[in-house]
Formats: sequence, structure tokens, C-alpha cells
Amino acid sequence: MKGPGMTRKEVLESLRDRPEVSVLIAGGGINGAGLLRELALQGVDALLVDKSDFCAGASAASTRIIHGGLRYLENGEFRLVREALRERNRLLENAAHYVRPLPTTIPIFSWTSGLFSAAGKFLGLSEQPSDRGALLIGIGLSLYDLFTGRQSVLPAHQFKSRQWSLNLRPELNPEIVCTALYYDASISYPERLCLELIQDAEALSPDVRGLNYVSVYGASRHAVVLKDELSGELVSVQPRIVVNATGAWIDFTNRALQRTTDYIGGTKGSHVVIDHPGLLAATRGQMLYFANADGRICIFYPYYGRVIAGSTDIPVRDPEASCDEAEVDYILASLRLVFPSIEVNRSHIVFRFCGVRPLPRSNAATPGQISRDHICAVLPAGGDTDFPVYSLIGGKWTTFRAFGEQVADKILAALGRRRIASSVHLPIGGGKGYPRSESETDAWLDAVQEKTGLPRARLVTLLDRYGTRAEGVALFIAMGADSPLRHQPEYSRREIMYLASQERIVHLDDLILRRTILALLGQVNGALLEELAGIIAPVLNWTPQQASGEVQRTAQILKERHGLSAEQLARAHSPKAC
Ligand SMILES: Cc1cc2nc3c(=O)[nH]c(=O)nc-3n(C[C@H](O)[C@H](O)[C@H](O)COP(=O)(O)OP(=O)(O)OC[C@H]3O[C@@H](n4cnc5c(N)ncnc54)[C@H](O)[C@@H]3O)c2cc1C
Repeated sequence: MKGPGMTRKEVLESLRDRPEVSVLIAGGGINGAGLLRELALQGVDALLVDKSDFCAGASAASTRIIHGGLRYLENGEFRLVREALRERNRLLENAAHYVRPLPTTIPIFSWTSGLFSAAGKFLGLSEQPSDRGALLIGIGLSLYDLFTGRQSVLPAHQFKSRQWSLNLRPELNPEIVCTALYYDASISYPERLCLELIQDAEALSPDVRGLNYVSVYGASRHAVVLKDELSGELVSVQPRIVVNATGAWIDFTNRALQRTTDYIGGTKGSHVVIDHPGLLAATRGQMLYFANADGRICIFYPYYGRVIAGSTDIPVRDPEASCDEAEVDYILASLRLVFPSIEVNRSHIVFRFCGVRPLPRSNAATPGQISRDHICAVLPAGGDTDFPVYSLIGGKWTTFRAFGEQVADKILAALGRRRIASSVHLPIGGGKGYPRSESETDAWLDAVQEKTGLPRARLVTLLDRYGTRAEGVALFIAMGADSPLRHQPEYSRREIMYLASQERIVHLDDLILRRTILALLGQVNGALLEELAGIIAPVLNWTPQQASGEVQRTAQILKERHGLSAEQLARAHSPKAC
């Protein structure tokens, strides 16, 4: 399997001749992708497969916050918070193109409430979530600052008086007693960062490869049967170790691997994306983080001219959950608690998304109390199969690198090999050489403008979208006649052709949901889908029938999973030019 230059079909063919691989990773979410890079770094040959697109599961449904997890302090998860804060700071350094500081305001409605409940929860005496007062929040934020200590790259927390807070945001609920301001980080393009990890892994080692639309389908004593989800063909591989990183599907995948487990007790979480200039302005560029009337945490924050709001936390069995009407009501009611005078309703929602957290099965009384820590559960070789299965349960987006490092160390020990490199300071994808200051940005823009002749404003956009990989995109764009998309001029035809040719796009929805944020921002309509399919069809050798099938498939996904109405899909968007 000599990866980089080969197509997915060629890789699958090559596996028929040489089915042996040291590590097979099932699942191309953030945990599978992070581990693949970690193994590539150690020179271990590995194959990653995902039944769908890369990063199409929970990893695409996260709140997009890279955080220590302030709330987990109440559950006494100090180790997790310490690790997550360390990883947050590392992502600010290694993925500076997508991970950026996010100032966060907590509106606070009492001075002392929650103290007894939190102490009770901490001591295992109480299980119900409750409102959190200023004192309790102050203790949590002080611990947060303490845990980051001298390695902190973000400012420490501050409390702001009621009057100061209302002066800054007159829309805030006047019942607040004060607000607190602290810093975490947000990630603008998690789906792209996940793909970058896979591409980096492949660039590090010719014996490492990631394939989308290939599932783990079955197993025999020595082999795992993979299914090409495009052709339906089966191919067997002979791994020494199988890693099951299929998130909420872990128990289903173990069953396909001839193992019975009951590891996962997932909870679904939904978000809505809101197009509402008044709400956007009221955020003042910050995240609002608060406890709902029932004590559950809700957030909303500005995102490229929209507001992302969520999330829910509801136990489910089906990993294919979607956002339902009751969840939308819940999120809208939460917004009213913070900004009672701002009217937000369903007509402002341009997109919904939902995913299932792959949490460990638990007897906790409320979903909020289930640990968000990660566990690698090992089923040794034996019984019906000759290979062990390592299941990656739980974890946060934020902690993927640490989780991958810990699992890689277990794998190295099992293979009798030694760690040869660390990912602690390894930049990811377009985070390599990413400019950190205004003068560095100017120098980068000057250099790429000189090479490509593209307008500076265009390069600024590309740098935001692709980090320093924007240079490759710009060079490709400059190699031929280009024009803005008719139905979304913020993108251009050659930019879309680049994504189709370089970024493993198999279906049209890969492009609008995961290579770009077009769907998330509510910028997709039927006319745009037709236009995009027309551009990528020749690149991917689609027949006219395939192209129109892709348009229908994508419209269906947008309706069924993301709550778009037929009217929204038909509505023409009024875009800005690129
Ligand atoms: C609503 C919500 C909000 C969250 N918010 C945050 C946040 O703000 N910050 C944070 O740090 N974390 C957050 N998380 C947690 C984080 O997103 C998840 O823990 C993490 O993404 C899990 O990644 P994973 O790779 O284990 O699983 P997934 O991303 O679900 O990946 C599993 C993959 O396995 C594939 N698969 C399934 N079956 C098979 C098979 N048979 N063969 C091959 N492939 C298969 C699926 O297609 C999928 O791509 C949130 C999670 C949710 C759901």
C-alpha cells in the first residue's frame, strides 16, 4: 500500500495482493484521524477506513469549542480538565489557522446558588444539576486559571459588575447580578482539520493511508472484511491490531468484528445556526455560556456572520440521530433567558446539526454527569479472531492528540516498537508556517501575490479558509481562467475544482458540508447545488445522470438531517463577490 499517489480504487486493489497491515483503524472521525497521524509519525504502517466521509460523525457535530471543560470541574474531573487545557493551548499553537481564542461571557443570576448542589455532586451525594452562582463560578474559573498556570497563552478570568455588563450589552437579562469573562478557543473548520491530519499522516509515511466510503463489514479468524461503499465490493485485510474508533457505532462495529460489547451509552446533541443581525450584534464577538433553568449548559457564539447555538444532551441508542422540534424549542427558550428582548424564532434558523457523543455506558442520573474522559478498552486476541481490538471510547475533540498519543504508545508496546517522535509541537496542515503577526501576514500575502497575481482580498479569504495551504490553492487558481460562482460568488470555480481534485470528495455533500462551510452558513440552495455539481462532474468523471443524482441526494440530506425546507432550498441567496 504505497499511499500518496494512488487513488482509493488502486489502494483497495493493492490490498488484494498485500493484505497485511500492522494497524487497521475503523473510523475517520477526529480520534481515528489523530491516531493515524500519531502512528505515521512513529513509522507504523496503518490503514484507516470510514464508512462515510472523513469527519462525518460526532466530530462534525461538535459545538466547535476547543476548551478545558469548565463544567467538568463539578464532576471532579480535574485530570481531564488539566489535559484538555494543555491540549487547547497546543492547538492554539499547532492549528493557529483554525483554532483561535474565544472570549466568553457568563451571565450570572445569583451570588451563591449551586454551592451545595456542586459540593453534593462532587461528594457523590447529589445528582441534579442546578443554577450556578457567582461564588461557584469564581471557584471554577480560578481552578481553570490555576491549571493553565505559567503555560497559559490566554488572559485570566475577570468578574464584571451588573452595571458594566448592562452598559456593554443592554439586551442582557436585567436579572443578572454580574457577569464573568474568561477565555477558551473555537475551531472554525473542524472537518478540514480532521482531513488535514489524514493528509499529513499520508505525507509522513508511504505506508499509511486513509480511505473514505469504506466500511468494516465483517471478520474471519485472521482477516477483517472491508466493503467499498461505492462499488459494493469486498476486500479482506490482515491486521495485527484493529482499532475501533467508530464513536457511537463502536458496539455495532465490534459485532461486525465478531466481538460483543456494550461500551457506549451515547447522548445526542443538537445545535442550530441562526441568521439574526440583532442577536449577532448582542454577542459583541464573544461566546455566551450559561446554565439553563434546568442547570444544563447552553452556549451561543458568533460564526462568520451567523450565531451557533446549542446544545442538547439526550440519551439515545441510534447513532444516526437528528435535531428534533423539541430540541429547537429548548435552544430558542435558552436564548430568551439571556436576551429576553431579542425575538429569535424558527424563521431565523438556516441550518441544524446533530451528533451522538460516544460516551461510556453509565449509571449516572443525568447525562451531564457522565464522564467526558477517554478510555481505550482492549479486547485481546482470542476466541474467533487472531487480532486484538482496541476501542476508543469517549473523549473530546480538544483532547484528540493526547488520546492518540496514549493509544499509539499502547500499540507500540504491543508491536515491540519504540516511540521515535512526538506530536506535541507538530503543526497541522495549513497551520505550518502560519503567520502570527500583522507583519508576518503581510509578508505571506506579498509573497503569494507575487507568485499568483491574485487580488490581496482574495488571498486574505483563502488564508482564512485554508491556512498556509492557501498557497497551493492560489497557485492552482492562477493556472487557468477563473470566475466567481454564479450563485455564491464568495467562492470561485477553480477553487471548487481544486477541492474536488485534491480533497477526496466522493459525493457533493462532502463539498458543501465538510470541505466548505457553505451549508452550515445557510448559503446553499438548489441553484447552487446544480452549479457545484456541474463544476465537479468533469473532475470526478460523473455522468450527467450521476451529477443530477448527487444534487438530489444532497438536497435530501439537507432536508432530512439539517432541517432545510423545500422553500429554503429553492430560495436564491444574495451573495457578495469574492
Ligand atoms: C453535540 C456535541 C457537541 C460537542 N462539542 C464539543 C466541543 O465543543 N468540544 C470538544 O472538544 N468536543 C465536543 N464534542 C465531543 C467530540 O465531538 C466527540 O467526542 C468526538 O468528535 C468523537 O470523535 P470520534 O472520532 O470518536 O467519533 P466520530 O466523529 O463519530 O467518528 C466515528 C466515525 O466512524 C465511522 N464509522 C461508523 N461505523 C463504521 C464502520 N463499520 N466502518 C468504518 N467506519 C465506521 C463513522 O462514519 C464516523 O465518521 C461534542 C460532541 C457532540 C456530539
